[in-house]
Amino acid sequence: MRISSWQEELRGSLQDSEQLLEKLGLQTNKLQTIKASEAFPFKAPESYLKRISKYDPTDPLLRQILPLQEENNQHNDYVVDPVGDLESETVPGLLHKYHGRVLLVTTGACAIHCRYCFRRHFPYADSNPAKQSWQPAMEYIQNDHSISEIILSGGDPLMLADEKLKKLLAELTAISHLKRLRIHSRMPAVLPSRITESFLDLFHNLRLNPVMVLHVNHVNEIDEHVELSLQKLKTAGITLLNQTVLLKGVNDSSQALSDLNEKLFESGVLPYYLHMLDKVQGAAHFAVEEERARNIMNKLRETLPGYLVPRLIREQAGLAYKLPIL
Ligand code: SF4
Repeated sequence: MRISSWQEELRGSLQDSEQLLEKLGLQTNKLQTIKASEAFPFKAPESYLKRISKYDPTDPLLRQILPLQEENNQHNDYVVDPVGDLESETVPGLLHKYHGRVLLVTTGACAIHCRYCFRRHFPYADSNPAKQSWQPAMEYIQNDHSISEIILSGGDPLMLADEKLKKLLAELTAISHLKRLRIHSRMPAVLPSRITESFLDLFHNLRLNPVMVLHVNHVNEIDEHVELSLQKLKTAGITLLNQTVLLKGVNDSSQALSDLNEKLFESGVLPYYLHMLDKVQGAAHFAVEEERARNIMNKLRETLPGYLVPRLIREQAGLAYKLPIL
């Protein structure tokens, strides 16, 4: 298989947070960092690291990826599967939570490891149909005519090579009751070189209506390379939405969210959801209290047009929809 430049870039990702701190001119002992667990190690590509400011321990991009001692604190209400993924798994790797939509866990791999990730403890080894075959998932979708939308998630589905995605899309397109293809990905923002011509070709004359839900948390994540990748996706006819996680020390102010949503819109993306943190073990230090979240949202409403204000929601295990907070 031919290796693309994005794959090479990915291979060169930094795997050691101490090296990063050294590069940034920061002292490890002051930041109380830890060596991340083997199950969820430190990982970030150079293209993302370039956007982190030197000498600033509070940089919002750094904070998202830096393993801190606080990850080891135990909190009773922080669990390994906060959104009930495993309960909704119908066949390996296929989650059926909501009416009309199913989510396929296409891979366990990501270009970056976000320390607050709600799937940081997900048993990808047991729930990754890509390793064996998509067949049981395809049969399940084929047999349920109420399903009109397939969501490709992970990990990050854009970690799959284009050839593999092409085969997957061909199988999905052949299921006549599917209407929409939704892709959840952080890669256009984290590794913009992933948006290659051969990737964009996958959407040429695609029968399914494509939507990509990006995951961007801070305006500094959107540099000129990211803007270009978003423009290309839009030109390829893909509807672009964004979901943000409300994170303490990253974006927990109306100004930060206003700047982010303005910039997203300039880049052709509409704000979709603002998620309250999912209570996953190891991420409690990112939590923002609900009252504070409401205040931030109220201020956001005062400054932005309605279409730039995302919906503040919480995902609750077992609920048939995402719970709107404000
Ligand atoms: S890219 Fe998404 S799935 Fe991967 S670690 Fe970050 S939040 Fe989790």
